[in-house]
Amino acid sequence: MDFSFCPQCGEKLRPRVCGDEGEVPYCESCKRPFFPFSYPCVICLCIAEDGSEIALIKQGYVSENYVNVAGYVKRGETPESTAVREVKEEIGLDAVSVRYAGSWYHAKSDNLMLGFECRVKKSEPVLSSEVNEAGWFTPENARKLLRRDSIGMSLLEKCLGASAERGTD
Ligand SMILES: [Zn+2]
Repeated sequence: MDFSFCPQCGEKLRPRVCGDEGEVPYCESCKRPFFPFSYPCVICLCIAEDGSEIALIKQGYVSENYVNVAGYVKRGETPESTAVREVKEEIGLDAVSVRYAGSWYHAKSDNLMLGFECRVKKSEPVLSSEVNEAGWFTPENARKLLRRDSIGMSLLEKCLGASAERGTD
């Protein structure tokens, strides 16, 4: 997101040289620059504690495919606490542990996606109104359900390894 007007006072921002950053939109009234930024979001691979199954969801307004739990980091939260909150809010599961797995930039939405491997207590999903469907799937089936070129798939491969793709057993 690029700023043209000050988000605090509404003044038109003027370019000002800001050290190594070069010209940055600057508010003369608030005496501060407003660097372009992308919204931080979390994307969570929800894995049962024993690693046997993965919970995926369907959200009509996002995609027809199964996707991972995801959501925006609220002000004052850490990404880890967002991951725990979103997993609870969207599918009613309790996270036992969250581990940062890597990040991806999603250009279309200008979101910075922070990926987490969330170990959760396996229970029946309780859906929020934003979620149409949820289910538990084996890692092999989760691989088939996630869109091939999606960040969710990249996260799954990062957490579980790309090699299990063919299902060796
Ligand atoms: Zn201002």
